[in-house]
Amino acid sequence: MKLVFATNNVNKLKEVQEMLPNSIELLSLKDIHCFDEIDETETTLEGNARLKASCVTQKYGYHCFADDTGLEVESLDGKPGVYSARYAGEPSNSENNMQKLLQELNGKENRKAQFRTAICLQLDGKQFFFDGICKGEILTKKQGEKGFGYDPIFQPEGYCQSFARMQRNEKNKISHRGLAIKKLVIFLAAYQK
Ligand code: IMP
Repeated sequence: MKLVFATNNVNKLKEVQEMLPNSIELLSLKDIHCFDEIDETETTLEGNARLKASCVTQKYGYHCFADDTGLEVESLDGKPGVYSARYAGEPSNSENNMQKLLQELNGKENRKAQFRTAICLQLDGKQFFFDGICKGEILTKKQGEKGFGYDPIFQPEGYCQSFARMQRNEKNKISHRGLAIKKLVIFLAAYQK
């Protein structure tokens, strides 16, 4: 089965590719020559995921899934949440986003946070939703070089290193996106039978 993951983020594509069975051929937006800017204009992660997946299916005819992730910080009432990518303003810049978050949390004792990923799968005219949560805390300074986004300042629960210090497959096993993808993969395996 050909399945489009509505992204061109190489890190995400690699993460997902490693988890999918060989029977599913994963295509990126570039692979299907989709160069449209799909703006994430909804106010929920699920809404944005649905927007992206249905856009691709309507215009290009492929089965497609899209994800949207937010970093929800407890003492900031769930912010930056659905606005994580552009927390420090446009254009999206991970370094600035991390600096802004570190400043906002300066002096706050509660540094609990969670990454949450919502996935919308558009398949045979229907929409299916999956989610994954990874709980942890925001460190006081950056740690590690791997990964992307907020990885250097996020430490998952039960670990004493940031996501940016973990190997990709180690992160995949516990990450929000990893958990949501696992649900998607289980669903697809059952759906194909
Ligand atoms: P997106 O919905 O995957 O584009 O993610 C929204 C924002 O959260 C972007 O700023 C990403 O950098 C950040 N983000 C998403 N997934 C991760 C992750 O696994 N680690 C760190 N940051 C992430």
